[in-house]
Amino acid sequence: MVANKPTLLISRCLLGETVRYDGRSKGDPELVTAIQPHCQLQPICPEVEAGLSTPRPSVELVQTGQTISARGRDEHSLDVTHQLQQFTTQFITQQPPIHGAILQNHSPSCGVEDTPLFSEEGEQLQTIDGLFTSALRATYPALPITSAETVSSPKGLQQFLNQVAAYYITSPR
Ligand code: SF4
Repeated sequence: MVANKPTLLISRCLLGETVRYDGRSKGDPELVTAIQPHCQLQPICPEVEAGLSTPRPSVELVQTGQTISARGRDEHSLDVTHQLQQFTTQFITQQPPIHGAILQNHSPSCGVEDTPLFSEEGEQLQTIDGLFTSALRATYPALPITSAETVSSPKGLQQFLNQVAAYYITSPR
């Protein structure tokens, strides 16, 4: 660990690891190269670390009343909500301090305000955070959290790094 740099959570698939549901990678080497000098990276894949296999059936977020669950897109009887929530609770409880997070767009776990939420009938209702992102935000409301897409421009990246630096100064190490 480099003690004098902020620690950033980063989705493992952004690092090029083949952890996606389809067994493929979705790496962003330019982004990783740009942030590495500024931060200590802590890779995370909530779905794999929750014990789901790779490849695995794709899931989507579905709203039933006030409840949001992660259900199979094609296998409608599949529900991995509890598994993901269990991992997330354990992670948040045991995690040493982090100072920001860059997470993958559109994912039911990692999405940042851009994950589709569907009704039981399959109609898209809105876009929201993924389940992991939502829990992280609820636990650490001031934590800088962004998506890979948002920091794909130099301006977006610099704004995010400024937020991380400000958070780092005032947070525990
Ligand atoms: S988006 Fe998140 S849960 Fe999905 S493969 Fe990437 S790191 Fe894993």
